[in-house]
Amino acid sequence: MVIKQFAKTSLGFFPTPEVELTRLSHFLGGPKIFIKRDDLTGLALGGNKTRKLEYILADALQQGCDTVITAGAAQSNHCRQTAAAAAMLNLQCHLLLGGESPATCQGNLLLDKMFDSHIHWTGDNRKGEDIQRITAQLKASGRKPYLVPYGGSNELGAMSFINAVGELKPQQQADEYSHLVFASCSGGTHAGLILGKEIHHKTFDLLGINIDKENVASGELSQTIVRLVNNTAKSIGLNYSFSDPQLILNSDYVGAGYGVVSERDKEAIALMAKYEGVLLDPVYTGRAMAGLIDLIRIGKLTKNDKVLFWHTGGAPSLFAYSEDLGFS
Ligand SMILES: *Cc1c(COP(=O)(O)O)cnc(C)c1O
Repeated sequence: MVIKQFAKTSLGFFPTPEVELTRLSHFLGGPKIFIKRDDLTGLALGGNKTRKLEYILADALQQGCDTVITAGAAQSNHCRQTAAAAAMLNLQCHLLLGGESPATCQGNLLLDKMFDSHIHWTGDNRKGEDIQRITAQLKASGRKPYLVPYGGSNELGAMSFINAVGELKPQQQADEYSHLVFASCSGGTHAGLILGKEIHHKTFDLLGINIDKENVASGELSQTIVRLVNNTAKSIGLNYSFSDPQLILNSDYVGAGYGVVSERDKEAIALMAKYEGVLLDPVYTGRAMAGLIDLIRIGKLTKNDKVLFWHTGGAPSLFAYSEDLGFS
């Protein structure tokens, strides 16, 4: 199958490792669990946004932009990786962060500042609601800004996860993973994995764990994922159509909302650290792993399954969550 290729700029180290979590599997008494280490992409402490930014920032360079602007929460991993990539590529970086400037500067926010990004605090808005206004100001001051979407989730971002599926170690058909489990939030990772599964003829179920409560009532995330799959397929010249009933997005673990650490999240983070020496994060991967563990406990994933947990990164925010994790 010939699919259209897009420009890419190298920002990390790929393929990322894929290894088995034998001690955690044994403790849970459930399926074999493997992990795809996108926390080790190598860009400023890693994460899934590195893949997306390789395509998105290649587009910014092609358009001759000298500035990038994006948005997220105060502890956004997406913003931190964007700021690091902008530093590498000699682009000025503007970040719109939700909330107010905190008393102590920790985790991703500390790194944003180290990468010399310009931070704009936006109160209740953490998804780029003010981005047009600040983009206009930048233009008026003579800069050529490039707008990186929330979470890097547009067609270019989704595209990067097609290759990510191609990185998976070849398995015998009978020995293929039964499920891929991962955190889903702005939709680009999920959409790209859906296309990657199609293009690379994989048979696993793609089990996205929704981590943001705001997405549940609105149904916005499902719509975004379906739209992104179909638009990305079109832009790469793939004859494929995807609809809502094919989507698996589990919203059972959103708890009290985005970034509010639950007991389940804490347990998942602790078990991974204790049994595997692997750091999960308090917002995304801790919650996705909490979902995976619960699905084993309630019998939805069994000993006959073989599960790949896609580690999408985020560990730098642990440093900003020590109290919520019960360590101070
Ligand atoms: C952004 C992010 C996700 C979610 O990926 P989306 O493509 O936004 O759905 C998951 N985990 C971490 C650590 C992230 O930073």
